[in-house]
Amino acid sequence: MNVRRSKELFEEAKKYIPGGVNSPVRAFKSVGDTPRFIAKAKGSHIWDVDGNEYIDYVCSWGPMILGHAHPSVVEGIKEQAEKGTSYGAPTELEVKLAKMIVEMVPSVEKVRMVNSGTEATMSAIRLARGYTGRNKVIKFEGGYHGHVDALLVKAGSGLTTFGVPTSPGIPEDFAKHTITVPFNDIDALKKVIDEVGNDVAAVIMEPVMANAGLIIPEEGYLEKVRELTAEKGIVLIFDEVITGFRLSPGGAQQYFNITPDLSCFGKIIGGGLPVGAFGGKKEIMDYLAPEGPVYQAGTLSGNPLAMIAGIKTLEELQKPGVYESLREKTNKLSEGLKEAAKKAGIYDKLCFKQIESISIVYFTNKDVKNYQDALTSNTEAYAVFFRKMLEQGVYLAPSQFEVAFMSTAHTEEDIEKTIKAAEVAFKEAANL
Ligand code: PMP
Repeated sequence: MNVRRSKELFEEAKKYIPGGVNSPVRAFKSVGDTPRFIAKAKGSHIWDVDGNEYIDYVCSWGPMILGHAHPSVVEGIKEQAEKGTSYGAPTELEVKLAKMIVEMVPSVEKVRMVNSGTEATMSAIRLARGYTGRNKVIKFEGGYHGHVDALLVKAGSGLTTFGVPTSPGIPEDFAKHTITVPFNDIDALKKVIDEVGNDVAAVIMEPVMANAGLIIPEEGYLEKVRELTAEKGIVLIFDEVITGFRLSPGGAQQYFNITPDLSCFGKIIGGGLPVGAFGGKKEIMDYLAPEGPVYQAGTLSGNPLAMIAGIKTLEELQKPGVYESLREKTNKLSEGLKEAAKKAGIYDKLCFKQIESISIVYFTNKDVKNYQDALTSNTEAYAVFFRKMLEQGVYLAPSQFEVAFMSTAHTEEDIEKTIKAAEVAFKEAANL
């Protein structure tokens, strides 16, 4: 496969952009390959600057649930661009998108638009702290909520000891307010809440963890998290940046029938433009400025181009049969990959996970239920698998700990081609 132009651009990019990329995982570091510079995309396919074509399962890390350049989204953006791209004043579009979110997501009564998932979680945490007058936050091992200071934190040595920063540049004084517990372990959470629950402003969680591979909550786990937080007046924040409008029209909370106090969104609600949002109970949301005392703002928040892209995307998702079809295609892909792994003689070394249109193959024989299980994966074997898939025109996430997304644009032919390619790639990775 010729990647000459991508290589040249990467070298040039490194002169002007740290690491040559604007978000670290794009650099393909952990898979040892050249990042493909993308020239265009349509439906389920992307093309790089050397003219190579790929079936895309990254889908811009989740937003492109309708596939790339969906006609109705593109049309909406074009029409709006003619009318201006930002006013810094209220528009009818933001009211419309807010209303759609409130109608689709069961727990959300009011919603505030921001520009990224990171901004959404950062603002939700501040709001929870302002509302409760408490400082501590509980998060889960392996959970990712963007690059917010308070959330780039891992567990210290004991369960309820101070958290420690996972990046230089975060004062220990910030990190110490964050407590990290393992996912799918209700006793660990209970212990912390019993000890310091009255000082805890929020528990923030991805209801299905999708940044440590794919970790699905065990039966009854989320219900218990809801109970424990409610008992102590702790704000339960569901980070639905990935699961929102993905697991079901109302996200993970509708899928599992749990009512969080606040929810964070991003990705899909922007239809591929930079958007985030956080919302929830009126009583809490009204604590935000200008109604309430907690400050939060944004020059480009509710940007009309982003709003129209979000509206058009959600309109498509409201059509009948969309989620069923996404699920069926993903089932087909998962089943096909399992068969391919069996043929390649590697099945026993793998762990397959899927929920609705999100899926993953971990290169471990452990049944992955938490972050520590995920870390047992053979990342070298994944890298070999990844490179062989890419070479055959299948673009997977360049990391073992990221998932594959199905879009409405993926075809039966795409899936069959992916399965065939996987058989070859699994064989290559089988001996590692
Ligand atoms: N929360 C979750 C669950 C995410 O997956 C991400 C991004 N992958 C974020 C928050 C941060 O979103 P953004 O990259 O838009 O800041």
